[in-house]
Amino acid sequence: MRTQVAIIGAGPAGLLLSHLLAAGGVESVVVETRTRDYVESRIRAGILEHSSVELLKSVGLGDRLTREGDEHRGIYLQWPAERHHIDFHDLVGRGVWVYGQTEVQKDLGRARDAAGQEVRYDVRDTQVHDPDDPYVTFTVDGVETRLDADVVVGCDGSFGPTRSVVPGRTWERTYGYSWLGVLASVAPSTDELIYAWHPDGFALNSMRSPTVTRLYLQVPADTDIGEWSDERIWDALATRLGHGQDGWKLTRGPITEKSVLPMRSLVQAPMRHSRVFLAGDAAHIVPPTGAKGLNLAVSDVALLAPALVALVREKDSRLADEYSDRALRRVWRCTHFSWWMTTMLHASGDEFDAQLQLSQLRWVASSVAGSTGLAENYAGLPIGF
Ligand SMILES: Cc1cc2nc3c(=O)[nH]c(=O)nc-3n(C[C@H](O)[C@H](O)[C@H](O)COP(=O)(O)OP(=O)(O)OC[C@H]3O[C@@H](n4cnc5c(N)ncnc54)[C@H](O)[C@@H]3O)c2cc1C
Repeated sequence: MRTQVAIIGAGPAGLLLSHLLAAGGVESVVVETRTRDYVESRIRAGILEHSSVELLKSVGLGDRLTREGDEHRGIYLQWPAERHHIDFHDLVGRGVWVYGQTEVQKDLGRARDAAGQEVRYDVRDTQVHDPDDPYVTFTVDGVETRLDADVVVGCDGSFGPTRSVVPGRTWERTYGYSWLGVLASVAPSTDELIYAWHPDGFALNSMRSPTVTRLYLQVPADTDIGEWSDERIWDALATRLGHGQDGWKLTRGPITEKSVLPMRSLVQAPMRHSRVFLAGDAAHIVPPTGAKGLNLAVSDVALLAPALVALVREKDSRLADEYSDRALRRVWRCTHFSWWMTTMLHASGDEFDAQLQLSQLRWVASSVAGSTGLAENYAGLPIGF
């Protein structure tokens, strides 16, 4: 097989890249280890920055998003006995959208179907060869296939094989805690997300739709999910989110999914080696506190697609040569913001740290300078930032 761009991974980065390349007249083939059903039902992110939404709308992927998604003006920041609304619209003139990654994934899948995109799901043994004249091998039902391409892009997430063929430096930070995330079939108890600092640990009250609530608890890194019954989860959420405070109530409901999500930061640089490129989680991981992982996947491929169109169609390598530096500028901004939100909101077990966190939260919530910084980063900087 031969194509212009071989894309490894059919997550949001891979499918959106194939969509943007097709709009620029470049063909691609996508290979993915999981089944389509699995990829489309994987519960992960749910917040889209302003610039991600604008991009999706501009390429025909915004209809269901704007119909079924929910636009939020800002977030609540909370600590015991206090809750403050940070209004992004008032501060920086833009907000965010709540729209599950599962839905973004389905919209992308349908759009690629309509365009006749070739996506090979359920492949095994994917390998990338010869970065100067690249090709990909994989097996389907035990039969090996070779896919030659002008360019290979690794959109294969944090555990995919492509990162290992891009030499460079990796920066990594692990945190001493994880998130226990749950989905519950109950209407959200809040109109916008609540980020809660609490001496027992951080909690986040988020949502996916008018009938589905998404909630997170800070838990120790080695947590066994079997130790967290539904009742224990709801009790901890009620305490940390302030059930009963100023009449606010956390409504409980059936928990339909629960998982433990490790927290780490990772950046790989450069994001290119010869004719092999990286995009999304394949090149960087952020802890989810800043809601940046999915948005970085979108911004990477928004920068990469025009670069590859120029490279493949015009043999013009200028944008491709700039891609890694341009993408990393935004990656490091989001990496810092995600680290900053994480360290401001999670209990470290150190009482001095706790006082510093509370002081910082009071400053962010009460000062225009403090809240504007949070709003600008959370609602998202322009894709070319
Ligand atoms: C477990 C998990 C939970 C998360 N939860 C949250 C959350 O609650 N909130 C939040 O804001 N963010 C969350 N994130 C972050 C966010 O979902 C990611 O940043 C986003 O999915 C990145 O998109 P991507 O396309 O770069 O990578 P991915 O979505 O990971 O897609 C990569 C794709 O490559 C495929 N692949 C891997 N190896 C191979 C191979 N060898 N051959 C072919 N295909 C391969 C994978 O199956 C996958 O489909 C979570 C991430 C993970 C991993």
